[in-house]
Amino acid sequence: MSALILDGTKIAQEIRTEVAAEVRALSSAGVRPGLAVLLVGHNPASEIYVRGKVKACEEVGIYSEKLTPPDSATTAELLEAVEDLNHRDDIDGILVQLPLPAQVDSKKVLLTVDPAKDVDGFHPMNVGFLSTQRPGLVPCTPAGVMEILRRSNIPVAGKDAVVVGRSDIVGKPAAMLLTNANATVTICHSKTRDLPGVCRRADILVAAIGRAGMITKDFVKPGATVIDVGMNTVTDPVEFQRFFSRNAKREETFRKKGSTLVGDVHPEVVEVAGALTPVPGGVGPLTIAMLMFNTVKAAKMRRGNKVPELSRV
Ligand code: NAP
Repeated sequence: MSALILDGTKIAQEIRTEVAAEVRALSSAGVRPGLAVLLVGHNPASEIYVRGKVKACEEVGIYSEKLTPPDSATTAELLEAVEDLNHRDDIDGILVQLPLPAQVDSKKVLLTVDPAKDVDGFHPMNVGFLSTQRPGLVPCTPAGVMEILRRSNIPVAGKDAVVVGRSDIVGKPAAMLLTNANATVTICHSKTRDLPGVCRRADILVAAIGRAGMITKDFVKPGATVIDVGMNTVTDPVEFQRFFSRNAKREETFRKKGSTLVGDVHPEVVEVAGALTPVPGGVGPLTIAMLMFNTVKAAKMRRGNKVPELSRV
């Protein structure tokens, strides 16, 4: 049996449509949500990500502003830029695109973002709100994982969930969200013993590792839901063959582009999982959709409006 493919692109579009309706309602009440993106220096990957975020803002009607300090920017200059944005009433969300140049104290810059405008959900205050189940801004990618589960009617309460990866931006908040949604959660990392065995206990397996195709069939309980957060660019033809030996469509793209995007989950997992997010087209599209959601949420919360916690299943 082949796994049900969870279509992240479609789910992300649903969320964007809902967010656009909220933006229209807020705008007609005189509040147009605004997002500021701080893009420091020239990093080609960051420039592509920021372009995607600005375009998404345009599509849903959010005002966006891109600040582009040079590569030589100092910590003090960036702190001043963030403080300015903190004080502006037309800006509801502040996103500091990472990585920042080496000379900059990134932690200090991120800590300076007003937690009420921290649409990435990285500020320790928002981390605390999440862990104590208070309203706050939740990191976009893990929030997107929960939306995929909820909108695909995959039950979470009482299930065994295993999260592979413990980063502050994906693994830990994903584990916290699953715990808040009443799953029994195990967090794994590079020192975990018998990783395949632990993963095989999972009804819901979340892979956020950063290693192409590491989660093979042996890691997956038949029928489990597998959420693949990984985004790895494969350029080596031998490695490509290991993943997509009989996939003509992928082969054609690989030949044209010289690379392809592979998740942390090996494509063979489709043969054992009950449901699976593809890469691309799974978790990826949710990240920007949830950024739009968070900007509207911040606009409402800053004005004292009650906001439903979309990301709590
Ligand atoms: P990260 O900060 O590098 O964290 C990776 C985690 O995986 C760490 O906790 C690490 O363990 C664990 N790990 C590494 N090798 C392992 C192994 N052999 N066995 C078990 N655990 C292992 O990465 P991240 O920022 O969380 O990102 C993870 C993946 O998600 C990447 O592919 C990234 O590109 C992708 N991502 C996608 C989106 C999206 O929008 N779809 C957003 C963010 C990230 P230790 O803690 O022990 O080192």
